[in-house]
Amino acid sequence: MLFNEKMYELGSKRSVIRDLFEYGKEQSKIVGAENVFDFSIGNPTVEAPEIVNKTIVELTYKKSSMELHGYTSAQGDEETRQAIAMYLNKKYDTNFKSDNFYMTVGAAASLTICFNALTSSKEDEFIAIAPFFPEYKVFVEGAGAKLEVVSADEVNFQINFDELEKKINKNTKGIIINSPNNPSGAVYTKETIQKLSDLLMKKSNEFDTEIFIISDEPYREIVYDGVEVPYVTKYYKNTIVCYSYSKSLSLPGERIGYILVPDEVVESKKIYAAICGAGRSLGFVCAPSMFQKVLVKCVGKTGDIEIYKKNRDLLYQGLMELGYKCYKPQGAFYLFVKILGDDEEEFCKRAKELNLLVVGATGFGCPGWVRISYCVDEYMINRSFGAFKKLKESFE
Ligand code: PLP
Repeated sequence: MLFNEKMYELGSKRSVIRDLFEYGKEQSKIVGAENVFDFSIGNPTVEAPEIVNKTIVELTYKKSSMELHGYTSAQGDEETRQAIAMYLNKKYDTNFKSDNFYMTVGAAASLTICFNALTSSKEDEFIAIAPFFPEYKVFVEGAGAKLEVVSADEVNFQINFDELEKKINKNTKGIIINSPNNPSGAVYTKETIQKLSDLLMKKSNEFDTEIFIISDEPYREIVYDGVEVPYVTKYYKNTIVCYSYSKSLSLPGERIGYILVPDEVVESKKIYAAICGAGRSLGFVCAPSMFQKVLVKCVGKTGDIEIYKKNRDLLYQGLMELGYKCYKPQGAFYLFVKILGDDEEEFCKRAKELNLLVVGATGFGCPGWVRISYCVDEYMINRSFGAFKKLKESFE
């Protein structure tokens, strides 16, 4: 075979989300952008905080080209990792050091590196909790492991623990959690994290294995009404955090994030070395130098989250008033809505005919729901209600 068929398949099939996004752009040319309601993609619409731009300008004047754009050490600049450790320690009362961090090109890379670093046999399994970010399957399988899925708790969007307990076995390497969640917008409570920790301790003892939590948290700061997002490393020792500034600083195209391996993780130094090795083997070399330097000044800052909250309230209230069943998100920028009728494809097709672009949740492991991304402008949400009304009526 001339090429890798699996890679060919991945590269030639666009994701449903990307497909819709491209369709929306084409459709805008035909019917006018004001008549297309594209809720497909999670591209932050809130401006990056002012300090990001200011720091970039400052750096370009103050630093030489080599200092600013040269290679950094593979794990990232010491100053950046130190700034992140200090910020987290202050905020969460933790005890991290710069050596616990490995800088990456965003959460996708953090996850890929993590799965590659941890997978030691093709029998290894990672468990995702539905609804989940569909790329987990690509990343886990790319690392040579298997992805198992626990079906969604469709009431509170926490964890279906009975099913999780049954799915854990001697090959379970890790549980992937994502809170605030894409696509449900749910935030796992302290009780959920504590219960997960207790279960994993019990199961690790039962099978005499180590089970990791891989906590994928690019939406950590995007929460509403003061809801608390428990810091998972404080509940479970074998937690590895995969973080990204794509959403909090509205920098998805700049590709910057990190992996955190706390000292409490079993054989933490060796796991950290395996993370460095996986980064090396995947050819990452180092995270973007300029944005590592930008972070020193911008760690802990966010864009204006109130804008997302306003959109959430507007969309949630509007759709509830129209008679849709919605889960009220506490974080991220997605609204999860139950389909009308019993055919998700038909629901999405009828929505598309009205130029309402929403993503069916089968790909997120939760059939019968759709994801509506509300990192869009408020004006579009207001204009979309007519189409949502027509969609509802078409099922009556
Ligand atoms: N994990 C989740 C849950 C996401 O929603 C995303 C992006 O949308 C990612 C990971 C990847 O983020 P990044 O852009 O930092 O690679």
